[in-house]
Parts: sequence; C-alpha cells; structure tokens
Amino acid sequence: MAMEGTTFTRLVERLAAAGRVIALDEGVQQLKEGRLAGHKVAITFDDGYIDNYTLARDVLQRVGVHASFFVPVTPIDKQLPYWWDHLFEVLKSEAVALFKWALQQPNPQPLQHALETAAVATNEPVGERCRRLVQALNNLGQRERHAFTEGLVGEFGSVRGDRLLMTWDEIRQMQKDGFAIGSHSVSHIPLTDLDFRTAKNEIVASSRLLRERLGQWPTGFCFPRGAFTADHSSLVREAGYDYAVTTCFGGNDAQADPFSLKRRNMSDYQGVRSRFPVAMHLFELSGCLDKFLAARRAG
Ligand SMILES: [Zn+2]
Repeated sequence: MAMEGTTFTRLVERLAAAGRVIALDEGVQQLKEGRLAGHKVAITFDDGYIDNYTLARDVLQRVGVHASFFVPVTPIDKQLPYWWDHLFEVLKSEAVALFKWALQQPNPQPLQHALETAAVATNEPVGERCRRLVQALNNLGQRERHAFTEGLVGEFGSVRGDRLLMTWDEIRQMQKDGFAIGSHSVSHIPLTDLDFRTAKNEIVASSRLLRERLGQWPTGFCFPRGAFTADHSSLVREAGYDYAVTTCFGGNDAQADPFSLKRRNMSDYQGVRSRFPVAMHLFELSGCLDKFLAARRAG
C-alpha cells in the first residue's frame, strides 16, 4: 500500500462511520440501474501485494467494510517482483551506484532527463525519487522499459528479502472472507503496449485462469498501469466482465461508463498529503477537491 498503516486505518474508520463505503460490484449495479446517488466510496487494491493480506485485511474486517483486490496471474504464480520493486530496492540501498550505472546507459531522452533530475534530488524521500523514475519509465514503450529494467536486474540482482506478493492460498482466504478478487490481466504488461490479439488474450485468459485458481469468475477487470483504449474497454465487456477500473483520476457520476471507471490514488507520499493525510484524503473523497480544481480552472 502506498499509505502508512495508521493513515489507512483512520481513513477507513472515518469513511465507515459516515456510512460511505460500498462494495464496488454494488456501486456498478447501482450505476447500471440508474440509482447511483450520494458520495459513496468503493475501496480497491491493485497488484496483489502481501500487505493487502497482512495489514489491509485486518483493518477492513475489524471496521466491517468491503473492498476489491485486483491481481495479475503470472506475477502471483511465479512470485515475481514488479520492475518498479527492483528500482525501489536499488534506490533505497545503492542510490549512488544506481545513478552512476543508469546515466551511462543508452537511455531515451525523457528517461535520461528524469534520471539526471532524480540523481541530484538527494534530499527527497526515496518514494518521491522513485516516483519520478517510474513515471518516466511508464511513458516509454514496453521494449525500452524492459531493456532498462532487465539491465538493472542484471547489474544489481533481483529483489532480496521478504516476500512481496500474496500467494493464491492467501488470495483464496480473502475471497472466503467476502472480499472481491478481480483480474489485473495475466502478465501485467500495459495493454496499449500489446497487439490487439495479445491484449484480448490478457483479458480473456486471465478470467479463465482466475476461475481455475479461485473457483469463481472475476466480475471486474483492472487495466495494468491504467493504460487502455476504447477498444480495450469493449473487449472487457465482450469477455463477460461487469466493469473495468482505470487509473484515470476522479469520481464516477451516474453517467459514467462502467468499463472505464475512474479512481483516486490514495498515496501519502506527495506534497501536502504527506502532512495531513487523513484530512486530505477525506477532502478528496468528498468531491470537494474536484469542485475546487474546476473552479480554479474556470477562474
Ligand atoms: Zn498494477
């Protein structure tokens, strides 16, 4: 989770006390039936990290609220750390060596620029420096990103230490607890980096593979890295899912498309959020931030 445990707990408690948390599937049902109203919040988690099980699960159960967890099949099957986990690990322990190595690589210009900026930002928290680089790498094509991250692992080795992702046993337990498990594709490669057939397979096969592992068809799909087109949304609908979530920032009103639902990234690491996290998250979730930003744009 990109949030401190205490922040998460207080935020969930406040939202639950206000009666604002609903299951995502229920929200989608209300949306499709034209009865979505009020400022409701559905809680979602991506990528299958172990703290979803060891930390979030306890809090959600104790407070008594629902949540959805989107997991990708192959990273869970093989317990593969994501490319940004490698980057974060090296940045945490060997930042000087990382930049020395990285700046000598044949990097595309935008990445080189981000590396140069991050290299000198030594007073920034690791999370923030990492975010800059992840953003630059996200903007590259799959081949360039893969080349860089393969080179990184070759130079510094794979992530060591504790297990990062949940196992299928743990995910099955979450399902038994009543939480929803959705698809986050097979490979977690952004669909926009794949040809149409391969992208379709990521959507269709992940549904079948989750059914094999969990005994239930997933109702929701989550686009890896939030990358999608209108064609991908149609593929998700045709594959039998009820909805798809994106990383487009914002809320969903009664007119929203269930196959490109917006979300809010509840990370603590940036700016004013890091100082007043609970208040800022509640402010955002109330819809007030959207009104404030719209007013500022209009003015
Ligand atoms: Zn993801």
